Amino acid sequence: MMATTRELFARHNLRCTAQRRALYENLAESRSHPTAEELFLTVKPSTTRLSLATVYNTLEALCKAGLARKLPTSNGSCRYDADTSEHLHVCFRESNEIQDVPSELGSKLIEHLPRSVIAEIELKLGVQVDGLNIQLLARPSPPRG
Ligand SMILES: [Zn+2]
Repeated sequence: MMATTRELFARHNLRCTAQRRALYENLAESRSHPTAEELFLTVKPSTTRLSLATVYNTLEALCKAGLARKLPTSNGSCRYDADTSEHLHVCFRESNEIQDVPSELGSKLIEHLPRSVIAEIELKLGVQVDGLNIQLLARPSPPRG
């Protein structure tokens, strides 16, 4: 059974307000990796007393609690993703839109990363690599034919 947003917030020690709930649920349903402004414009009509500042604060709190990810784009603005599973993104250079790479292709790429180089990085920097965040930069392919 899927946990309700209220239960999910409680498990992550997040205060549950109507605004936060609406923002999280909208982000979780969205496949478009919205910016804070886009999320604000989508959620505002159906939510009382929602300010852009609340959207930013909520997104920060969600990221800190591990319920969302912040994704940088090539123009320096940020997009958000409620899917925190390890998956890769394609970021379009001109539109700064972000798209998920199908997980089977993402895993294929990750599997082919040389473990020996990661081990070397760990040794050289004295760190333990425990995650991976790959973003491919792309432009739409030109029409064929
Ligand atoms: Zn994603």
